[in-house]
Amino acid sequence: MVPDIPKNLTEVKARIEAAAIATGRNASEISLVAISKYHPAARISEAIAAGQINFGENQVKEAEEKWLRLKLAHPNICLHLVGPLQTNKTKRAVELFDVFETVDRLKLARALAREMDAQGRRPKCLIQVNTGEEKQKAGVLPAGADAFITRCRDELELPVVGLMCIPPVDDEAAFHFGLLATIAERHGLEKLSMGMSDDFEIAIRFGASHVRVGTAIFGSRLSGQ
Ligand SMILES: *Cc1c(COP(=O)(O)O)cnc(C)c1O
Repeated sequence: MVPDIPKNLTEVKARIEAAAIATGRNASEISLVAISKYHPAARISEAIAAGQINFGENQVKEAEEKWLRLKLAHPNICLHLVGPLQTNKTKRAVELFDVFETVDRLKLARALAREMDAQGRRPKCLIQVNTGEEKQKAGVLPAGADAFITRCRDELELPVVGLMCIPPVDDEAAFHFGLLATIAERHGLEKLSMGMSDDFEIAIRFGASHVRVGTAIFGSRLSGQ
């Protein structure tokens, strides 16, 4: 079935609004990041035409294939990287992305700092925390988060604005959102990227500033996650 993207966007925004009101927050504090991975540029263009500005992709190569052109045509777009970044792709990534949500290790943080200096471009950074301590998942472990955040901000002078997490699929998401919010608060970090199609309302209750929604906007993906 072909998804009705404008209608889906309207519905997701209404749900964000309702979730914000229910918890005494202002929906204008919450950014909807439309995760367009595996979806073709034509679908993305429908979302842009409907007024969507924040998008997320999880791979540098796929993002380049779709977004180099789209960003030229729509310079106001804000493109987030939400997947793991290999250090050998840092240069291309700093050229293309406006927000890095997955800073999670020193080697990458150093490469980003160096590349940002070289390009004179400073995309905002979020630190990914592996709140579920899952072996297969990226992110700094909760026990190491404080030291890592401090190093990224104070030593490498990365523009760190917040934290991001992807809770384990079978777990209570609320615990992970609460943990992420607690770590962010200790560091005075304002941005919290948490919540996806199935749990963004819970994330909003725990203070999400960015919700990353793919399926509820674009429909199911043909391959991958
Ligand atoms: C794919 C993806 C999403 C979107 O997930 P949906 O369940 O389709 O909304 C959000 N965040 C990250 C990091 C992703 O990789």
